[in-house]
Amino acid sequence: MRATVTCVCCRQRGSHWGRGLIATCYRRHHHAGTLHRYPLTTPPDEGRWRPTGRVGKATLRRVAKLHGLGFSAQSIGWEVGISRRQVERYLAELKQTSPTPSPSKTPEERNDST
Ligand SMILES: [Zn+2]
Repeated sequence: MRATVTCVCCRQRGSHWGRGLIATCYRRHHHAGTLHRYPLTTPPDEGRWRPTGRVGKATLRRVAKLHGLGFSAQSIGWEVGISRRQVERYLAELKQTSPTPSPSKTPEERNDST
């Protein structure tokens, strides 16, 4: 299933093929070797470690709780029984998944005083 998007290069509506481009443009840029001009729409997180399964998720919750209480990475490692490196991976995952506060105004909107 492909989402319908407005192509980032020609502004035409069509089925999303990749990098924000519709099929015809994606093929054109692929042939021309200019695909790199268009950023990937999905972050390449293959290879990135993620806590999976019940144990991983339970550990993530414990790490999050201790982190919230102000424990250092080393202390969390001691408490949970994982290495400090593992703790840092869990903390990185928490940063990835925690919702970022959305500003009420974009920088562009704030510049309208001039
Ligand atoms: Zn296009």
